[in-house]
Amino acid sequence: MKTIGFIGAGNMAEAIVKGIDRTKFLPPQQIGVTDVNVQRLEHFAAMGHRAFADCRELVAFADYLVLSVKPQQMADVLAEAAPALREGTAVISIAAGISADYIRRALGRPELVVIPVMPNTPLLIAEGATAVGREEDTPAEQLAFVKQIFAASGKVWELPADKLSEVIPANSSSPAFIYYYAKLFCDQISQYGLEREMVKEMFCQTLIGAARMMLESGEDIDDLIAKVCSKGGTTIAGIEGFQAKGLDAAVAYGIQRCIERAHELG
Ligand code: NAD
Repeated sequence: MKTIGFIGAGNMAEAIVKGIDRTKFLPPQQIGVTDVNVQRLEHFAAMGHRAFADCRELVAFADYLVLSVKPQQMADVLAEAAPALREGTAVISIAAGISADYIRRALGRPELVVIPVMPNTPLLIAEGATAVGREEDTPAEQLAFVKQIFAASGKVWELPADKLSEVIPANSSSPAFIYYYAKLFCDQISQYGLEREMVKEMFCQTLIGAARMMLESGEDIDDLIAKVCSKGGTTIAGIEGFQAKGLDAAVAYGIQRCIERAHELG
C-alpha cells in the first residue's frame, strides 16, 4: 500500500488529508507529515497520522511526496529533502507558480516524476476544484493515484502541466475573488437599510443557484444574462453601471496580475 508524505502541514495539507480520511482511500498510518511548527505535528498525530520532526525521515517514508509549503519556502525545503529522496518516489507540488522543472533542478534529479497540482480551499468542505498537471511522460499509474487523492475532496481536471499557472484565477485564487466580490455587494446593498447578515445569506444562496444554473441549465452564460435583463429594467441598468465604471477592464487586469505573479514565483 502506498504512502503519502507532506512537507508543510498547513491548511492545504489538512484539507487534502481530511478528504483521504473521509473516503478511507488510505489508512491513516500511510500518511505522514513534517512541519517546522510542532503544534501542526501534534495536530496530525492526534488524527492518527505519522508526524516526523525530521524532514528527511518523512521524505524517506513517502512514495508520494507532497510539497505543501509556501512558494517562498520551497528552495530551502528542496535543499533539505534532496539527499533523502528515494528512487521511484513521485513528487506532487501544490505551490503556486512552482514548475516541475524547477523542482527537478533543485533536487538534482532530471528523471524525477513531478506532478504539479493546483487545488483550492473549498477542498476543506469536499467541494474542491483541482487541476492536475500532466507532462508527456507522466506515468499513467502515478497520475491516476494523484487524481484519486484530490477526487476525495471534490472535482478534478487533468491538464498540461505548463498550464497550471494560467488556471490559478479559475480555481485556486478565485475563492478569494468571489469573497471579495461578495463583500463589495454585501457592503453596498446593506447601506440601503437592509440587515447585512440577511443580505449575505441571500447573496450566497444566489451564488449557489446561479452556479447551478450555469452548470445544469445547458444554456451559455450570455443567454442566462440576457434572460435576467429585460429591456429598460433594473438588471440592465446595473450591468451598464458596472461597465461605465470599468468592471470589465478591472477583472481583466486582476486576472492578468494573478497569472503574472504565478510566473514570477516560478
Ligand atoms: P500554510 O501556511 O497554511 O501551510 C504551510 C505550512 O508549511 C505551515 O504549517 C508552515 O509551518 C510549514 N512550513 C514552513 N516552512 C517549512 C519548512 N521549512 N519545513 C516544513 N514545513 C514548513 O499554507 P497553505 O495555505 O496550506 O498553502 C500551502 C501551499 O499550497 C502554498 O504553496 C500555496 O501556494 C498552495 N496553495 C494554496 C491555496 C490556498 O488557497 N491556500 C490554493 C492552492 C495552492
